[in-house]
Amino acid sequence: RVKALVAGNWKMNGLKASKKEVSGLARLLAKSKRVRCDVLVCPPATLIPLLKEEARGSKVAVGAQDCHAKVSGAHTGDISAEMLKDAGASYVIVGHSERRADHGETDAVVRAKAEAAHRAGLVAIVCVGETEAQRDARETLKVIRGQLKGSLPADATAKTTIVAYEPVWAIGTGRTPTAQDVAKVHAAIRGALVKRFGDEGAAMRILYGGSVKPSNAVELMGVENVNGALVGGASLKAEDFFGIISAYI
Ligand code: 13P
Repeated sequence: RVKALVAGNWKMNGLKASKKEVSGLARLLAKSKRVRCDVLVCPPATLIPLLKEEARGSKVAVGAQDCHAKVSGAHTGDISAEMLKDAGASYVIVGHSERRADHGETDAVVRAKAEAAHRAGLVAIVCVGETEAQRDARETLKVIRGQLKGSLPADATAKTTIVAYEPVWAIGTGRTPTAQDVAKVHAAIRGALVKRFGDEGAAMRILYGGSVKPSNAVELMGVENVNGALVGGASLKAEDFFGIISAYI
């Protein structure tokens, strides 16, 4: 059985005062010994050391939202995977649709970033997902298979790599695919992972992301081949995030 991961992506939200959400989360988790999933918070990079400190002794891991492909050098404004690791991160999200859209990241760029994550000893959470237009054109599975092929490193394993399926039209919209639609896409992702990576692909976690909240978490997390969630808005408040984590109690 694949152990689930519930990951929060804070995006460009959070100041030092937000550390109370992490201590609050740690407290809620400490009271609830039966939580059967791993828990991760990915704040803006500025907060990684502070939140790592705040999460000490709890089961909350800290991750980042992006990394540069190179180790170091003349890349103003960028942060390498090695630097994120040094700051306390153990995971990094790569290829989020907002990065693909806002920064023109291609599958090749995302793959280089995932390889950098592995080089630095970080788990890469590689995001894929179709736009609404692609969905309407019934291209969802084709798009997802193409993104997986182009974005996943050749030596990805279940320990080093997680796939997150985030339909672009479901992000921040309050709209989610039906459980049947999620099942169909996750089954296709599983099929592609097994075909390419064998047993490692069978054991790789596949997260669902896009308007996950406490009220729909049980249904979405209950879908076959859904091994956790990547949560945006609802990860910003400890109580809401814990409400989603509670799908795994
Ligand atoms: P929301 O949960 O706010 O829809 O965001 C999902 C997401 O993009 C997580 O990476």
